Amino acid sequence: MIHPVWDLWILLVVIYLSECFLWLPHGTCALGGAFRWKWLRGNGLLSNENGKLIPLSPLPWATAARIPWWEVCLAKGRVCSFVPFAVPGERYTQLTECVSPAERVRVDGSSVSVGSLAIDTPSPAHACALAESLTKAKDAKRWISRRLDTGEVAVAMDRLKKHTRPVQWLSSIEWLALFAGFPGLFLGSWPLWLWLAAAGGFMGLHLITVTVFVRAHRQLYPQLGWPVKWGFLMAVAPTLAMRAPVLLSTNLFSFSHPFAVLAHCDATQASEMLHLLLRDARFPAEPSQPSDEQAKKVVSDFRKEVVRAYETAMKQMKVGEETLECGSGATYYCPRCLSEFTRQTDCHHCGGRTTTPVG
Ligand SMILES: [Zn+2]
Repeated sequence: MIHPVWDLWILLVVIYLSECFLWLPHGTCALGGAFRWKWLRGNGLLSNENGKLIPLSPLPWATAARIPWWEVCLAKGRVCSFVPFAVPGERYTQLTECVSPAERVRVDGSSVSVGSLAIDTPSPAHACALAESLTKAKDAKRWISRRLDTGEVAVAMDRLKKHTRPVQWLSSIEWLALFAGFPGLFLGSWPLWLWLAAAGGFMGLHLITVTVFVRAHRQLYPQLGWPVKWGFLMAVAPTLAMRAPVLLSTNLFSFSHPFAVLAHCDATQASEMLHLLLRDARFPAEPSQPSDEQAKKVVSDFRKEVVRAYETAMKQMKVGEETLECGSGATYYCPRCLSEFTRQTDCHHCGGRTTTPVG
């Protein structure tokens, strides 16, 4: 018969694994990993109309950041929350209200309101960053170039490294103690005093991890105040303390564009994403225009600026234009998602976008 201590240990493993997932709301993407930053695509198995869960690395030093896609359009001194840019296969938000960024910008939890316009973001950190950028926004060009600024990302990455390194070490030691040290101790039939010493040592280590996490969080996100909720949850759940590096990195790039982050990681993935973004901006999914006349102008001007910014980024990174390779039976293809069709039809992945003849 299995010893009850093993039941408890298996339960801990299951709880830990359940924490190795990240909720990704629609309109955001995730970058991170255990050894280097990369685009975390995940699959759509655990998804609903609001977003999806993506699996993360189970290693305790892994990091992951949620980065919003373009959540607002800004042009000609107006802000509009119509979102014409989206990851393929996702839902599109269409809010056509158009307001001036000069109106009062307020933050309420994860939501930002500009006058009568409300914009949802993935977290309070994202909301603070968006509100700050809206208050400072002068024109679309500067707004876009700041979001694509790879220098700002480098600074954020350095800050994360500096403040997360001690937590990464502590989390890793806890992880090894619980998942390797504990079974070793149990199988070795060591005396009771050694058990008590090990348990006491673990408790001490755990308290240090929580304290260091709380300090690091406060230094990385001073605008959010002390992380009382996370500190408490972590104190009672050691499995959560082992995921502390993820909790510290999740909201790091709250204003930067995914491409600006990816430019620091992997050249192949960066060029792949840049092609995807460029196609999405040039041939947006339908409905590609809001119905409101004023919002329509804002969206189309903003889109022109975005395409120009991507093209400049491509030149700077020496990324060439994509070459299209269609299958032998294909006669039409979707210029946005590159799905192929054997007859003239609209692309159902892209909200019914018109397809283009091959060749
Ligand atoms: Zn398509």
